[in-house]
Amino acid sequence: MNFNNELTQWYLENKRDLPWRNTTDAYTIWLSEIILQQTRVEQGLPYFNRFVEKYPNVSAFAAANEDDILKLWQGLGYYSRGRNMLKTAQLVQELYDGEFPQSYDQLIKLKGIGEYTAAAIASFSANEAKAVVDGNVYRVLARYLGIDEPINSTKGKKIFQQAANDFLNKKNPGLHNQAMMEFGATVCKPKNPACGICPVRTGCYAFTHNAINTLPVKLNKLKIRERYFSYFLIADDHKVLINKRNHSDIWANMYDLPLIETPAMVSTEELFTHPQVVDFFGNELKISEISPVKKHVLTHQRLYVRLIILQNQPIKLQENWFYTPVENIKNIALPRIIFIFLKNIFNL
Ligand code: SF4
Repeated sequence: MNFNNELTQWYLENKRDLPWRNTTDAYTIWLSEIILQQTRVEQGLPYFNRFVEKYPNVSAFAAANEDDILKLWQGLGYYSRGRNMLKTAQLVQELYDGEFPQSYDQLIKLKGIGEYTAAAIASFSANEAKAVVDGNVYRVLARYLGIDEPINSTKGKKIFQQAANDFLNKKNPGLHNQAMMEFGATVCKPKNPACGICPVRTGCYAFTHNAINTLPVKLNKLKIRERYFSYFLIADDHKVLINKRNHSDIWANMYDLPLIETPAMVSTEELFTHPQVVDFFGNELKISEISPVKKHVLTHQRLYVRLIILQNQPIKLQENWFYTPVENIKNIALPRIIFIFLKNIFNL
């Protein structure tokens, strides 16, 4: 028996009975797919039922107002998805007179419907031969075929799409896609896959090569956050004003200097009229020097930091501020960039 036969047989014997599996109505399938992109089956089911009951067809959905949709969506989070559903429904109403399209080519042109959703609706509703590639399918293919290309790289996406197309049972693509997704969700799970009862384990690369925990591979693409820090140095030859940082940010519970963070590196004129600066130092700043902006790279953040040295500046002492002797600077936990600033200024 080959992979597809084993998979189909397994699915027919083990699939969960879910309402969107008993229909070929493209609208109903669309509803279920969008909800399931947001949450797990168990949590999504009551939402799906409420939506279908209140809006039994796409025309009813399109006529809803946004508040009602968001109310029904409440608790699912990521509210723009709810709003986009309304836009998609209105577009379907306008372009297709309330008849939800079933063909991949029509679906993919609708705003709010991507490759995955278009393939799912087209294959489930009209048995169109389009392979669905969701997180479950990536995992099954990576493990079964031993593909170690990252699933979120451009090259990886192409390889997996091709593999999914090659595997697709062209005679029954809807059933095949459902089976792949269900198999990934309930047997070939991210953690502790049920290899012991897996019907395809003898042909599975990961199972036979002990690579279950290393496949699939995913690139860690964390977005780098850019931040703009203006520090103020208030000091004389003997002491420096220090700030104790709180625990909920970078450099948690360490020490630095009075800081103003702005959404961009604003001009000094703008900075000096910033309400927080005025609150800290009043309207008149006694500036002795402004450093060039220095870039400081952390693992997930890029900081742009400048230092403004004030002299004889009246201040409103804040809760976390305190003076420390210059000679004590070396003993306190300062971020490196702050320490270098102070080291150069005080010849430490
Ligand atoms: Fe997934 Fe394990 Fe089956 Fe391989 S043997 S396909 S890793 S469940």
